[in-house]
Amino acid sequence: MLVDRFNRSINYLRVSITDRCNLRCVYCTPPDGERRLRHRDILRYEELLRIVRIALKLGIKKIRLTGGEPFVRKGIQEFIPMLMALKGLDDISLTTNGVYLKDNLEMLKAAGIKRINVSIDSLNRVKFKRITRFDYFSEVWEGIEKARDMGFYPIKLNVVIMKGINDNEVLDFGRLAIEHPYHIRFIECMPVGFESNSLAFIPNSEIEKTLVHKFGPLIPVSPGQNDGPAERYRFDGGKGEIGLISPISNSFCQHCNRLRLTANGMLLPCLLSNIEVDIKDPLRRGCLDEELIEVFLKAVDVKPKCHPLNLDNNQKVHRKMCSIGG
Ligand code: SAM
Repeated sequence: MLVDRFNRSINYLRVSITDRCNLRCVYCTPPDGERRLRHRDILRYEELLRIVRIALKLGIKKIRLTGGEPFVRKGIQEFIPMLMALKGLDDISLTTNGVYLKDNLEMLKAAGIKRINVSIDSLNRVKFKRITRFDYFSEVWEGIEKARDMGFYPIKLNVVIMKGINDNEVLDFGRLAIEHPYHIRFIECMPVGFESNSLAFIPNSEIEKTLVHKFGPLIPVSPGQNDGPAERYRFDGGKGEIGLISPISNSFCQHCNRLRLTANGMLLPCLLSNIEVDIKDPLRRGCLDEELIEVFLKAVDVKPKCHPLNLDNNQKVHRKMCSIGG
């Protein structure tokens, strides 16, 4: 089993299956897009399956597919059922920007995926376009509503609130969690990739204050077995939930149970540090499973106690979020 030097059990692997995305969110991707990986540098599906199989042997129980945008990778419709067929996985989920969600919901349901996370930072079409640089609000919203109608639950809506950009929508998202069964998750804007992210940062304590002032107390929801770092709440009588994910103002590193796999085959022990352990190289040299196990053990061994990032220091994360997968 994977236990790091600080006695944290690692049982969650986030797998970025592509570096490509059909949006270019201002806080995540440069205006002209990030330089794309060469096709041959991206892990093939059979390589991903082998890595996941090893991870399961080592006690990983939960997998999340991310990107780039997972639905832009060709063949994902065949890959997801193969992943779902692997024995030992308690939980598979997916984070998407929702643009192609509508057309993939039947496949997800047939494969046995029950819940999804959709990133949506504005409920206003013009603002959505300003943030994502594309006019796809209607497609995303249709996907979310169809997922709800098809019984996906929970549907978590990831929202990054940024000063001067969408901070006037906090109450609209709060209202959504009252009137609908959506779980709205406010993720603090991380100072990664762009200087402007630090300027846009708003601590979740402010979001909480705004919500409570308007809608009344946030009632804590007891954490579930597969919960991530969100502090969960609901409003009295509300149909959905509010989740606060505060990596900067209230770091949850002491409970971190994650490893990340990038599309080009690097294991990252921490989202906000620059440590990477190459798993693609041994894989492509035709190594035995034992060597891949060693790579996992090494990645866990170098997992830092806490990420070094705050708004005041100069620590730079070399990768942009679009190439890590959030
Ligand atoms: N394309 C998919 C999506 O949009 O959900 C998956 C990849 S995206 C990088 C995963 C998540 O990372 C999104 O919810 C996005 O909002 C979040 N993210 C990206 N950059 C971020 C930043 N600087 N701070 C906080 N969250 C960020």
